[in-house]
Amino acid sequence: MRIVIFGPPGSGKGTYASRLMEKLGVPHISTGDLVREEIRNQTPLGKMIEKYSSSGGLVPDETITEILKERMRSGASKGFVLEGYPRTVNQAKELAKMTKIDAVINLIVPDSVIIRRLSARLQCKSCGAIYNEITLKPRVAGKCDKCGGELFRRADDQPEVIQERLKVYREASAPVVDFYRSEGLLKDIGNEDPNADPNEIVSQILKMIKPRP
Ligand SMILES: [Zn+2]
Repeated sequence: MRIVIFGPPGSGKGTYASRLMEKLGVPHISTGDLVREEIRNQTPLGKMIEKYSSSGGLVPDETITEILKERMRSGASKGFVLEGYPRTVNQAKELAKMTKIDAVINLIVPDSVIIRRLSARLQCKSCGAIYNEITLKPRVAGKCDKCGGELFRRADDQPEVIQERLKVYREASAPVVDFYRSEGLLKDIGNEDPNADPNEIVSQILKMIKPRP
């Protein structure tokens, strides 16, 4: 099964992607992870990306496409759950040339839920571990379970900043979402309940998808 998963920051996309990966027995391919790996291994592409990001520029479309192509060649024959790609209609067309997508999951979560969830996020100053005041509380308030470090709220998890990130996400993703809707591949999954069991959502997704002939 070849699946693309879309969702705003804080929609639980990563969680659903890794659970779907287990259920379907396919790899979870995240272009964000692939990019970090290229940089870590200091490959020619990795070095190029580093140069772009250190000068504050955006990594070109084609570079990400190249990295994904390489990943697809090195074993995605049984399928995949793809996250972080495509970000543009152009990339969606490139992806269609690489492989046939069976379904595109579009996670729909109200802004209020996302803001509540993300603004409850805390990070350890020393080791970087992530906590959540609602869903993943540290044992001692304000202190990291792992290293005892001080917990703080990241600047990009402040409500006004989250609102802006959501706006940016929506504007950027709308054309790609429309593209897949017109191709008949889009499956909308609503998640209004902030306390919904992720397993429930995953089984809902599994019921909606099937391989294309
Ligand atoms: Zn820590």
